[in-house]
Parts: sequence; C-alpha cells; structure tokens
Amino acid sequence: MRIFEKLAEYRYEQVVFCHDKYTGLRAIIVIHNTTLGPALGGCRMYPYASEDEAVTDALRLARGMTYKAAASGLNLGGGKSVIVGDPDEDKSEALFRSFGRYVETLGGRYISAEDVGTSIEDMENIRLETSHVAGVDVTHGGSGDPSPFTALGVEQGMLACAEEVFGTPSLKGLTVAVQGLGHVGYHLCKLLHAEGARLIVTDLNPSLTKKAVREFGAKPVEPDEILSFPCDVFAPCALGAVVNDGSLPKLRCSIVAGSANNVLAKSYLGAALSERGILYAPDYVINAGGLINIADELEGYNEQRATKRVMRIRDSVQRVIAISKRDHVPTNIAADTLALERIDAIGSMVRLHTGHPYGMPHRRRETI
Ligand code: NAD
Repeated sequence: MRIFEKLAEYRYEQVVFCHDKYTGLRAIIVIHNTTLGPALGGCRMYPYASEDEAVTDALRLARGMTYKAAASGLNLGGGKSVIVGDPDEDKSEALFRSFGRYVETLGGRYISAEDVGTSIEDMENIRLETSHVAGVDVTHGGSGDPSPFTALGVEQGMLACAEEVFGTPSLKGLTVAVQGLGHVGYHLCKLLHAEGARLIVTDLNPSLTKKAVREFGAKPVEPDEILSFPCDVFAPCALGAVVNDGSLPKLRCSIVAGSANNVLAKSYLGAALSERGILYAPDYVINAGGLINIADELEGYNEQRATKRVMRIRDSVQRVIAISKRDHVPTNIAADTLALERIDAIGSMVRLHTGHPYGMPHRRRETI
C-alpha cells in the first residue's frame, strides 16, 4: 500500500503503527482530523487477513468519526484504532496496557473507546496506562450503556423528519417499522410507544419480537417482510446496507430513520431515495447519541447534560434538511456539508489565531 498517497487523498494527519514483541501487540492508530478537538474513536479488535485490510479499515473508520463528531456539534476530531487479533483468543491485560501506553504517547491527540471486539474490561486495562480513554466502568466515571442514548437521538431525529414530511412535530399516530430489536431497537420502541406511535417490529430472534409485542402492543412481521411493509417511518436498527438496489423499489415509507450504520449500500442511493420522495435521516447524524453520551465523560460525566446534548440531534437533522434544500442535494450529501462547513469555519479561525493548521489539538474544549 502507498500509505502517503492514501493519507493525502483525504488529508489524514497521522498514522501510528504500534508493535510490542512481548505482548504480541500489532495495532494501528489513525488520527484523521483534530481541527475541532482531540480525535475520539473506538478501538476495534479483529483478525484482519492482511495488513492492508487493517490499515484500510482504520483509515475509513477514522474519517467517518471526523464527520460524525463535527455534525454532532462535538468539539472532537476523528480517529480510530485497530488491534490485529482474535478477540476470543488473543486478549490479555498486558496487550491492552501495551496499547494504552501507545495512546499515552500521543498526549491526548487520540482518545480511545470501546468498539467491535473490545469491551469495558479492555478499556479499564487501557486506563491503567493513560487517561485518554472513554467508555470505562461507571465506577471510574464511565457513562454506561450507550444504547438508550442512541435510541433517544434516533427518536429526536425522527421528530425532525416527521415535522418536515407531515408538518407536525409529533410521532403520535404514525406507523413506525422497526427492524432489529436489540440494544437500540428495544429502547427506541419504548420511546415511540410512549409517544403514541404504532409499531411494526421484527427481529431474527423471535423472543425479542414477542417481548415488543407484549410490552408495546407492536405488530410482528417476518424479517423479510419489514422492508416492504407500508408505514410512515422505516427504522433500520439491525444491519448496514439495508437500502440497496434490490430493496429500494420495495420501500413503502415516507421516512428512513434508524440507528444502523452505513444504511445506504452506495452513496447514490441517497439521491435515489430522494427521487422516490423518501426523506432519509443520515445514519451518522441520527445515530450519534451514543458518541455524544460517551464524549461527556471527558468533562466528568453528567447524565442530565449528556441527555440535553443528545436531544440536539433533532436540530442537527433539521440543519441537514435545510442544507439539502439550500444546495439541492440529497440529505446524505448535506450531512457531509454540515460537518465540513463546521470544520472549515473553525479551521480558518484556528489558522488565523495560531498560524498552525491544527491549532492546539490536544487541548480539550468544552462542548457548547
Ligand atoms: P444489537 O446487536 O444489540 O441488535 C441488533 C438486532 O438486530 C439483534 O437483535 C439481531 O437479532 C437483529 N437483526 C440482525 N439482522 C436482522 C435482520 N435481517 N432482520 C431483523 N433483525 C435482525 O445491536 P444494537 O447495539 O442494537 O445496534 C443496532 C444497530 O445500530 C447496529 O447497526 C449498530 O452498529 C448501530 N449503532 C448502535 C449504537 C449503540 O449505541 N448500540 C450506536 C450507533 C450505531
């Protein structure tokens, strides 16, 4: 791989290769952009088949975090790390402490957190070597399970969409089809039920579907029926790439708004949804509640403050819709514009006052 060409393509700031013979650590930390603040991003552990695959994944994920933090109004940049290894076989205290030491060398430019393949226990081991880690145990100032906050953000984003499409900032009486009733989907159903929405639900796990039927009076459907079921809002809370060339013509909803990452299999599907008259709430804007909640740990976790900030996802989705109309672009493109405009505005201010392209990136700033 021609690393510098890759870094130049999307203006990555830094890539750190971490190696420790004694613990077997092979990790890559990518800092994409720290204009808005230190780069926060999860540490993923995965048995990558090749080094190229690991680098490519870390680069892609780090850049995504820059956009997500910026569009969420957080004073954080984008970063990510990957540890090459099997989470079921290769974990040890020493491995994560060794990784923590590398994070510490970055002096706060990168803040680690939980991700696929890592757990709170791993974050606790990282914490033994560096304070630049979030998502630690609640006894150490951690913010706990992010899912209820992700669900709250999705509900707020849905409200913004409902106001735009139906002219009323309420979900009462609307039919919402929820795909996936796991950590986020369940909490989302609870919120929607309390608001008076009618629920259509499905999960591969029938016991989760039964629970939603019992607790929320939801109507169950088979997993392969949910996409084409007539509804006002389709809420993907299971997998990515649910909107693809095959599923697009089947959708019978006015809004797509859920927690799943990478909802659109390809970027052009944003325009395709818009052409079909379906309003799409961009995934990384509407599912940022968990990130906003965990970021609050950096100021000393306060649940009330975190909740207030998560509720601003409604404003962010409204802004995305406004940009989409202003620029005549689909909402997935408008979300990127929202993020980039904020980074550009703060970046010019920082350059003007410090003469340095990235200002003082390791200094933490309070989120407004
Ligand atoms: P989860 O694993 O707890 O739940 C996912 C559920 O989807 C499971 O119950 C699974 O059985 C079900 N499922 C999988 N495939 C399905 C299918 N084809 N049809 C119906 N159901 C199916 O995951 P989660 O934490 O609830 O996250 C849900 C989605 O939201 C994921 O895409 C995740 O990446 C994303 N997300 C989660 C958070 C968070 O705070 N947990 C934050 C941001 C994004």
